Amino acid sequence: MKEKFRKFMVGRYGADAFGRFLLLPVLILLIIGYVKLNRYCHIGALVILIYIYYRMFSRNISARYRENQKFLDLTKPIRRQINYIGIRIRDRKDYKFTRCPYCNLEMRVPKNKGKVIIKCKKCKNTFEFRT
Ligand SMILES: [Zn+2]
Repeated sequence: MKEKFRKFMVGRYGADAFGRFLLLPVLILLIIGYVKLNRYCHIGALVILIYIYYRMFSRNISARYRENQKFLDLTKPIRRQINYIGIRIRDRKDYKFTRCPYCNLEMRVPKNKGKVIIKCKKCKNTFEFRT
């Protein structure tokens, strides 16, 4: 069975970040549809699911790749912000986080080092920061 599926998927696009992202509106529509008993939400979820499978089984790999790249380009600032929040949570014990007062660049500084002078990587200005 696994081998059959593997052979079926040869030359097909498969899953990507855009496809995984589309599962979110499917889930939201299913929940709304379930709570409000609205069949249009279920139909909407079904349409999106069909589109996800259409993309996964598509043999036009370059077109699907372009769609995914467009999605990644559009969501880059959001993904970057989410990633930064993750870093802040991960490093909260060892680092303090601040912004450059001149260019607003976010940066992290090791904790418990007293008062330090920070030179911004971007604008090269310096400022004091208590860690
Ligand atoms: Zn700066």
